[in-house]
Amino acid sequence: MLMKNKLISDLKKSLPSFNVLGTLEERYAYAQDATNVRKIESLPDAVVFVETVEEVQSVVKIANKYRIPVICRGAGTNVVGACVVQHGGIILNFSKMNKIIEINKENMTAVVQPGVVLGCFQKEVEKLGLFYPPDPSNLTVSTIGGSIAQSSGGAKSFKYGTTKDYIIDLKVVMANGEILQTGANTIKNATGYNLGSLFVGSEGTLGIVVEATLKLIPKPESKKVIMAYFDTVKDAVHAVNSIIEQQIFPATIDFMDKNAILTVEKFYPAGLLTDKDAALVIEIDGFKSSMRYQEKVITGILDNSGASAVQVSHNNEEYEKIWTARRASMGACAKLKPNVTTDDVIVPRENLEKLVLGIREICERYRLDVCMVGHVGDGSVHPQIPINYKDEDEYRRYKLAKSEIYDLTAQLGGILSGEHGIGSQKRAYIHKVINSTALDYMRKIKRIFDPNNILNPYKIF
Ligand SMILES: Cc1cc2nc3c(=O)[nH]c(=O)nc-3n(C[C@H](O)[C@H](O)[C@H](O)COP(=O)(O)OP(=O)(O)OC[C@H]3O[C@@H](n4cnc5c(N)ncnc54)[C@H](O)[C@@H]3O)c2cc1C
Repeated sequence: MLMKNKLISDLKKSLPSFNVLGTLEERYAYAQDATNVRKIESLPDAVVFVETVEEVQSVVKIANKYRIPVICRGAGTNVVGACVVQHGGIILNFSKMNKIIEINKENMTAVVQPGVVLGCFQKEVEKLGLFYPPDPSNLTVSTIGGSIAQSSGGAKSFKYGTTKDYIIDLKVVMANGEILQTGANTIKNATGYNLGSLFVGSEGTLGIVVEATLKLIPKPESKKVIMAYFDTVKDAVHAVNSIIEQQIFPATIDFMDKNAILTVEKFYPAGLLTDKDAALVIEIDGFKSSMRYQEKVITGILDNSGASAVQVSHNNEEYEKIWTARRASMGACAKLKPNVTTDDVIVPRENLEKLVLGIREICERYRLDVCMVGHVGDGSVHPQIPINYKDEDEYRRYKLAKSEIYDLTAQLGGILSGEHGIGSQKRAYIHKVINSTALDYMRKIKRIFDPNNILNPYKIF
């Protein structure tokens, strides 16, 4: 208690006192993130809202003095327990460092603070005819800092890649308070080690991003979404491969299985066809003049691949309706039981069918419901499992199923996360897919960057 009082007092000397929170209720509110954890292990000692780089440096110095963890927080929407507090610490809240510093049309770059909300940023760049593609389904709340730290993806990563492909330069406060700049405002950089790539996806364990320069691209002139239904998952997966074989490159090839369709339709009716086993949500974009051609080729492939129904959006309202339904899947699934877990496994696309059918079989065997969605163009599947954590037997079965899903993913040449990260929830399983030498090097890098182990410890490995 004495230490906590001293810590709060030190923090209030370095930051405006209204930006330092320390009551039990305030600490409780920041002990978790969007991950459905079974029980709260620990509370943060303090929560601070930072407004400047200097304040971030001061907090880091104080954390070193007390040797306590610093856990960065954007919107707290990650689903792997990446912001979950395990042994106390200071929550560094970035919601007040939320300025778009510059959007440069000539360079096609933007400089932003980490707390900028992704969806707001996208709207601003789109007003200028530019485009920032990374689009996690919850982009209306999640932040740029969080998406860099998790290397977030989204539906459009099939054509446009993930966050890691749009990072030009990062300003980072290191564990000892020094400032590291990873590059310059240039589109290419072959000047020394690519340190920037180490921070992307590092979940706040190597450094604290305080400013980012992001790459922008021209905004596609037009977009449309095609929803195709199939009587079997096998047909849906074959259709994905057929589209790719034709060298047509939609922005998105997303997937919903029967349970996901049924559950979304039950809670957020959107007119989805509930008698089908699977659906693909395919977005095409590009020049207006190319749209009719793309639509014709893709609907032709879908017909030949056994699609039993195909719907095409004809206006923005229809477009939004389909995407709202796809994005509602986790919220809908959460209504089935008191808790819901989501996952993010990814395999080489050729093994997609085995992954989807394998997950179905595992969940059936363990008597668990599963709603599957995913960015299947990338080979990525999100099994969402509704569960009641208070039911000991169901929880035991869930843990066994989860481990088997990871074993299956590994057997199929896949990895444990394509975009959500590892956090505290999957760290016990990372050895299934990353070899011990690679893990050793990760630990060595962590020790060099953060010798006192204060930056978001107990995450990833
Ligand atoms: C309904 C739902 C749908 C989702 N859909 C997708 C999806 O389609 N694709 C996808 O990729 N993800 C998805 N996610 C996961 C989530 O959106 C991402 O992980 C998100 O980018 C996290 O952003 P955030 O601001 O909430 O970060 P937080 O959850 O606050 O933090 C995430 C990590 O970033 C670290 N961090 C935050 N700010 C900084 C900083 N400035 N410097 C260093 N580290 C920092 C934190 O310590 C933590 O480790 C979904 C989540 C939900 C709840």
